[in-house]
Amino acid sequence: MKHLIDTYKIPIAAFLIFVMVGIVMWFIRDIRYFYLFAGIGFAELNTRIFIIHYPKYRQFFRLTIQFLLGSMFIFWLSLFIGVNFQFPEIFFDASAGIVTGALIQMLVARIVLPFFFGNAFCSRACWTGFFFEVTNSKKYISKPPTERSELLAWGYIALLILVPIGINVFYKPYNPAENDDLRKYWIIGENLFIVTIGFVMTFFTGSRSYCRMLCPFITISGLFSKFSLFKITPVAADSCTGCNACTKACPMLIDVKTLVYEKKKVSDKLCIVCERCVSSCNSDVLKLTNKKVNSVVVNPLDLKGK
Ligand code: SF4
Ligand code: SF4
Ligand code: SF4
Repeated sequence: MKHLIDTYKIPIAAFLIFVMVGIVMWFIRDIRYFYLFAGIGFAELNTRIFIIHYPKYRQFFRLTIQFLLGSMFIFWLSLFIGVNFQFPEIFFDASAGIVTGALIQMLVARIVLPFFFGNAFCSRACWTGFFFEVTNSKKYISKPPTERSELLAWGYIALLILVPIGINVFYKPYNPAENDDLRKYWIIGENLFIVTIGFVMTFFTGSRSYCRMLCPFITISGLFSKFSLFKITPVAADSCTGCNACTKACPMLIDVKTLVYEKKKVSDKLCIVCERCVSSCNSDVLKLTNKKVNSVVVNPLDLKGK
C-alpha cells in the first residue's frame, strides 16, 4: 500500500488539490467551477498515471494535455463564452467592481498551485505556452540569450496595471469588463499581441523570451514556486555522467547540470516543470518529486526506461 501511494502520490495530490479548489469555488461561485476544476484534476490524474507507466511518452502526454486544456481555455471559455484570462482583465474587472476568470486563474494557478507544483500551469494548461512550445527554439540565435531583468518584468506588470486603470478613468466605455461587445476584441487582441511578441522576441533574445522575460503570470507565480512541495530533484546525483543533455533540453535556460553537481533541487523561479530535463537524462538522475536529493527511487516502474 505504501509503495502504491508512493508511486501515485503526484497524480493523487494533483487530483485532490484541483477537487478541493473546485469545492471552494463551488461555494464562492457556482457548481460549474467544481466541474471545471475537478475535470482539470481528472485530466492531470490520468496524464500522470500514463507518464508513470510510459515515461518514454512523457512529453507527448504532457503536450497533449496542454493542447487540450489550453484549447478549452482559449476557444471555449475565452472566445466562445467571453472570459478573458489575461492579466490586465483583473484590473479592468476591479474597476468595474466584478470578479471573473482572470482573478480566479491568478489565485488558483499563480498563488495556490505554485506551493504544490511550481509553475506547472505553464507546461500543462497555458495556451500561449503551448504555442511557444511548438514555435520557439533555442536554435534561432547563436549569440548568448538575453538574461531576464527583474526591472523589465516588474515594469511590464506596472504597465499592465496602469493601462486598464487609465482606460477606465479616461475612456470608460472602452473598459471590456463593462462592454460585452468589446470584450471578445480585447481577448483576441491581447492573445494575438502575446503570441506575436513572443514569437518575434525569441529570434532576438532567445528561447521562450516572452515567458522568461515578460510574462506577468510567471513573475507572480515565481515568487511562490520556490516553496513548491514537488520539484525537479536529482534523486541519483551520483549517477550523473555530466553529458549536459538536461541543460540543453531546458527551454527556460536553467543550468540543470550545475544544480545536479551541487546536489540542489531546481528552485529557479522560471522552471515551468515541463520535465524536459527529466526526459533528456538517460541516467535517471532527475525526477519530479518531494523526495530529498540523492534519494534513489527503488521503484520497478522507473526501471521501464525512457
Ligand atoms: S510564462 Fe506566461 S506565457 Fe509562458 S507558459 Fe507561463 S503563463 Fe504561459
Ligand atoms: S542529463 Fe542526466 S547525466 Fe546528463 S548532465 Fe544532466 S543529470 Fe547528468
Ligand atoms: S528545469 Fe527542467 S522542468 Fe524546469 S523548465 Fe527546465 S527542463 Fe523544464
